[in-house]
Amino acid sequence: MSPFASSRPLVPGRQAIALISEHGDPAAEIGKEEAGGQNVYVRQVGEALAKLGWQVDMFTRKTHPDEAAIVEHSPHCRTIRLIAGPETFVPRDELYQYMPQFVQAFLKFQSQDGSNYPLIHTNYWMSGWVGLQIKALSNIQLVHTYHSLGAIKYRAIAKRPPIAPTRLAVEQQILEQADCVVATSPQEQEHLRSLVSTKGNLEIIPCGTDIENFRVMPKAEAKAILGLKPNVPVVLYVGRFDPRKGIETLVRACAQIKTSQVDSTSDPADFRLVIVGGSDPDQADGQERQRIEQLVQALDLGKQTVFAGRIGHDRLPLYYTAADVCVIPSHYEPFGLVAIEAMACGTPVVASAVGGLKFTVVPEETGLLAPPQDVNAFANAINRILADELWARKLRRQASVRVQQNFSWMGVAAQLSDLYRYLLAQSLSQESLWGDRPSRSREAITLIEPHRQPVTAKGFTRVS
Ligand code: UDP
Repeated sequence: MSPFASSRPLVPGRQAIALISEHGDPAAEIGKEEAGGQNVYVRQVGEALAKLGWQVDMFTRKTHPDEAAIVEHSPHCRTIRLIAGPETFVPRDELYQYMPQFVQAFLKFQSQDGSNYPLIHTNYWMSGWVGLQIKALSNIQLVHTYHSLGAIKYRAIAKRPPIAPTRLAVEQQILEQADCVVATSPQEQEHLRSLVSTKGNLEIIPCGTDIENFRVMPKAEAKAILGLKPNVPVVLYVGRFDPRKGIETLVRACAQIKTSQVDSTSDPADFRLVIVGGSDPDQADGQERQRIEQLVQALDLGKQTVFAGRIGHDRLPLYYTAADVCVIPSHYEPFGLVAIEAMACGTPVVASAVGGLKFTVVPEETGLLAPPQDVNAFANAINRILADELWARKLRRQASVRVQQNFSWMGVAAQLSDLYRYLLAQSLSQESLWGDRPSRSREAITLIEPHRQPVTAKGFTRVS
């Protein structure tokens, strides 16, 4: 029997589209190794697009024999797990060899299910490669979001993995050949143009957050629920255990704050460091967590540090609300969902001045930026916010307003939906309309070279 026995018939009146996220399973538990922002993005965008009238199928790789082949999130949005390589976790840097199987499995599913996806939105470079192969075989519109750029990632690491040259070449192909690449911030657009290619269509559409879930709530209540003392300030980290996340910088900054408090004769135990994020002892994130725990002990922060483990989005708002400052000390961050989640809850953010964090965090208005890995600068920034309650209150208000106005998933999905409709209409009309696109983000579109003649469209239902 086909593993996809629960496949359903096509839904009349709805246009089916596919999102592909080869390693970021939209139905996975978030916060564990390699399950982070991309999983959240695909799942939230998928569900919001379904609410806007699309039929959304999200494809990922099956990583366990017991995992369901299909997970229905809502009547019009599901995750489909394809078999490509062994049904176990495979680190990203070793996954590329299984992508031809992913393409075959996708095409097989499509024909068995009777689905027809005239538009595919791929996520991360390997899914982009899959999209390019499908595009070479059929008339699809290909939209791509990178989530992470090899061109930047490899600048920060001394020893490049063997996959690096392939990744860089594929990233360039995607930008030059996809129908549109979605950059999630002006900073990412700039990086794509300066480091990847000056060719290809680009549009800026940010990531979002669930503003109904991540919202301002009473701080005292959140602290009480979490068993935190009302008058002890809380410094929060949320995210994966990965050296790139820079948790070490935060821990060292906290040690410095503690020492300076000793010098100024205030209570040295006068703040809590809460570290949220899951880890698996057998995986690389388990090793990083162990390293951080040892550092916490070595710097004598054990008594005031809490390792909360993986926390779901149902309880995360409590943590953000209880925090006086949320710290994002990443060495590199393409967007950084944690920043907008924290700000949506009215929590000021101290973040590295890198990538999308320079777009989401407005210095002196919603938080502060510091140079990555600069322990002094992080300690000073955290201290400034903890020391000035009146100013912090202003930051809190401005932070939540910024997210509500700019970063709701529904707003993001509406912009993606406009883009999809535009591309599908363009493929129907068989001529490039990029120059005429009447978009609110018109100024963000950089059309250097219309590299491809639009293809003959397949019949599809327009979303009304
Ligand atoms: N996250 C979570 N629980 C945890 C740790 C992280 O739900 O215990 C979520 C977090 O809320 C955010 C995502 O994981 O939505 C991390 O996304 P981000 O873009 O900040 O970082 P990435 O993991 O993509 O590098």
